[in-house]
Amino acid sequence: MANTIQFLGAAGVVTGSSYLVSTDSAKFLIDCGLFQGAAAADRKNYQSFPYNPTKINFLILTHAHLDHCGLIPKLYRDGFRGRIYTTPATFDLAQAILTNAAQIQEHGVTDKQLEALFIKRDATNSFKLFETHEYGKTFSPMPGIKVRLNDAGHILGAAIVEVWIQGQKLVFSGDLGNSPVPIMKDPTIIRDANYVICESTYGDRLHEPPSAREKNLLATIKQAARDGAKLIIPSFALERSQDLLYTLNNFRNSGVLPNIPVILDSPLASQITDIFKRYTKLFDADFQRYLKTDKDLFDFPGFRQTRTKFQSKALNQLSGAAVIIAGSGMADAGRVQHHLLHHLDEPRTQVLFVGFQTPNTLGRRLINGARQVRIMRHRITVKAQIKELGAFSAHADQAGLLRWLSGFTSKPTVFLTHGENISREALAKKVLSKLKLKAVIPAMGEIKTI
Ligand SMILES: [Zn+2]
Repeated sequence: MANTIQFLGAAGVVTGSSYLVSTDSAKFLIDCGLFQGAAAADRKNYQSFPYNPTKINFLILTHAHLDHCGLIPKLYRDGFRGRIYTTPATFDLAQAILTNAAQIQEHGVTDKQLEALFIKRDATNSFKLFETHEYGKTFSPMPGIKVRLNDAGHILGAAIVEVWIQGQKLVFSGDLGNSPVPIMKDPTIIRDANYVICESTYGDRLHEPPSAREKNLLATIKQAARDGAKLIIPSFALERSQDLLYTLNNFRNSGVLPNIPVILDSPLASQITDIFKRYTKLFDADFQRYLKTDKDLFDFPGFRQTRTKFQSKALNQLSGAAVIIAGSGMADAGRVQHHLLHHLDEPRTQVLFVGFQTPNTLGRRLINGARQVRIMRHRITVKAQIKELGAFSAHADQAGLLRWLSGFTSKPTVFLTHGENISREALAKKVLSKLKLKAVIPAMGEIKTI
């Protein structure tokens, strides 16, 4: 039987990442992610896996974002008992992320037709299957298969996965980092592969340069200070929040940050920031240099965190200028909804999006210029200023993706995944014209022989 790869998610969309590789003697998964966004995505999470979980030998996890790890507890519940290979940092982060996701499932399933997708016990049990490996160390999950994880520069612990199998080599990009960004190193360049499975989230776009990002961020904060108004930053708990705190800490150290309160209103982001503080050795050269003169690069005078619901609700009474960083990053759930509910109808309020907004989310609707939105059963007229900072994205843009792909000297076939079709098609054209590589756009569920 020929070896095959099946594209089970993130084909034509950016969520639900999962690939099934099958050989004569092995079946394994790369990622087991949650579909996010519209209700249709939610329904997809409830469907049975299109394979028998008890027959999967092992899983390799690229990183701890929910759209890559979010169905692992369900996979355990449905009978998977193989090893889950990932980096130590990803394991720590995945425990925080999946425990939080299970709590949301247990308490927050909105559609009464649906039961919790998984519960905390499924998540906790799945943690026993993890086996961690540092970047750059080769290991063998089964006879005849070798694996190596490399720094993807995307979020803490994220890996590009090299797999050697029966004379073939596959490289899974996972999500590739945006370079240069705060904290993270550049994605590792890989030279050889027969097949590259590459993300394409921003395959049709270029980010603004990092200097523009910092200038724009500082300008929005200064405007909030001048106006005595709120700057609300819907932020993903993992990586975006820490990038922001690090950047604001640097502003404070260089004396340019206006003297207004900065509040992180996300217990999960606070928990994850504590994990970041344990892995500072993985961060880039600038981070190491600043660490010599400031031993906590995620904390500064004027910054505070809300740990309880009471502290969070008290923010509604906060008068004057403030920066409020709160989840979720796409504004679809979480504490940021309360802040939007209170401040969206105020023209001096600024809402700054700092990450990719999936279609059909509140974040995407606001960016698209919606003048009326519904939040927690309230209809709100949007008078606030809605802004976007693309360069804070953790994903490489088109130039970054092409730069990483140009590192391959072995002329691999490239499968483009993890992007909407418009992004994949734009990137496929460039991959062919600039790199002279064959780029394939697989459909959801499609099986390719390798
Ligand atoms: Zn990611």
